[in-house]
Amino acid sequence: MSTPNEPSFRESVDMMFNRAVALMDLPPGLEEKIRVCNATYTVRFGVRLRGQMQTFTGYRSVHSEHMEPVKGGIRYAISVNQDEVEALAALMTYKCSLVEAPFGGSKGGLCIDPREYDEHELELITRRFAYELIKRDMINPAQNVPAPDMGTGEREMAWIADQYKRMNTTDINSSACVTGKPTNAGGIQGRTEATGRGVQYALREFFRDREGVKKAGMTGTLNGKTVIVQGLGNVGYHAAKFLSEEDGCKITGIIERDGALTDPNGLDVEAVRHWIANHDGVSGYPDGFYVKDGSTVLEEACDILLPAALEGVINLGNADRIKAPLIIEAANGPVTAGADNILREKGTVIIPDMYANAGGVTVSYFEWVKNLSHIRFGRMQRRQEEARHQLVVDELTRLSDHLGDAWSMTPDFKEKYLRGAGELELVRSGLDDTMRAAYQSMAAVWHGRDDVDDLRTAAYLVAIEKVAASYRAKGL
Ligand code: NAD
Repeated sequence: MSTPNEPSFRESVDMMFNRAVALMDLPPGLEEKIRVCNATYTVRFGVRLRGQMQTFTGYRSVHSEHMEPVKGGIRYAISVNQDEVEALAALMTYKCSLVEAPFGGSKGGLCIDPREYDEHELELITRRFAYELIKRDMINPAQNVPAPDMGTGEREMAWIADQYKRMNTTDINSSACVTGKPTNAGGIQGRTEATGRGVQYALREFFRDREGVKKAGMTGTLNGKTVIVQGLGNVGYHAAKFLSEEDGCKITGIIERDGALTDPNGLDVEAVRHWIANHDGVSGYPDGFYVKDGSTVLEEACDILLPAALEGVINLGNADRIKAPLIIEAANGPVTAGADNILREKGTVIIPDMYANAGGVTVSYFEWVKNLSHIRFGRMQRRQEEARHQLVVDELTRLSDHLGDAWSMTPDFKEKYLRGAGELELVRSGLDDTMRAAYQSMAAVWHGRDDVDDLRTAAYLVAIEKVAASYRAKGL
């Protein structure tokens, strides 16, 4: 996607890393240890499909094992390559560190266009890929735990979990070998929406940071802000849906593979998603203006640009034409290092990928903990909490009866207060807390240090410091 004279995705990540470590006081050896990718395993395997053997190439890369297991999604896309997988694995190390998920960084990918295969074929391919990784401990609850990424979802995760169970019949923790599973196969409520939900929480927290909002040259709250989204897949769809339904944002542009839709009055996210599912793209959608060259819509005026598809889409070729004052990197690596320099000079505020899309790994962490503890969150406390709340409500009812017309409870107080938190509420609460705390840690550096003028450098500083502390604690 990026222009030819631009560094690769991995080089871009390294450049951003180098910019941050230049502001730190790390011994050069440790700096190098943290930066490099520990190992990348390439596998080529055959699957008999449609009467003949087809060979596939996949990767699993481990960036840093300062904490184990290492964690990172598996991507299915024809463009997958070693450089990309290594860049994504490095981002996972920094992301987990920033949001305090106790994992090292890893990533996997398979060179395949999943749309070219039916469900049965995809299952055969996924199980074979999983088999190759499992037998080398590259999928393992204690060592390496994948999750969904572009082109994969809960269906693929369920196949991987089942494959692991078949090969490790006595492992009581087998469900924890992969996250992002369906809820009826060991998953957790709120995982599918988690990354988009995290993007929403990140934006809410950004708009609570008055100094940050001012730095972006913006005013007000999220309410009424216009948003252009690229990629209406898992992450983009959930982020756009929640922002429009719950925060009063207007989705004025949706960019997909086959073009883009725009509407200054706001697009109906649910209707567009439905249209894409039935027509394999956005073209022909009746409500909205269709633009054939979708990438030009990235350059249209809006308050918030939300790239949620693939890397390198904002690059040296278009950075100076980007008008949005705020970019939230819902995808991994959508802004190249070169574009990042141009945008920083223009004063554009970028909420970096490492933070913005960390909702996925945060809820994956909750799922992993749930699998290891073998019990659903809230199961022990919920009814007890409700019983205690009932005591308060009974007392307030008595008081209200006593006071007559002078005082009464607000109509929906009783219902809201009585309900103990179930798994979904607890997951959202844990995610919200994580996104707020991580933002605060970045913002303290962004606003507090004269030599840091952007959130990305701040995020790297916070993340690298924690990784370094963990290596130091091991005596390295
Ligand atoms: P997905 O496969 O569900 O969705 C990707 C969407 O982008 C699809 O709708 C696809 O049609 C669209 N798309 C593909 N190429 C495009 C192009 N050239 N122009 C416009 N649209 C295009 O993937 P996802 O899981 O939503 O992941 C999207 C991004 O978010 C990736 O960068 C991924 O690494 C990152 N991410 C995902 C998760 C997760 O939990 N799924 C977590 C963290 C980060």
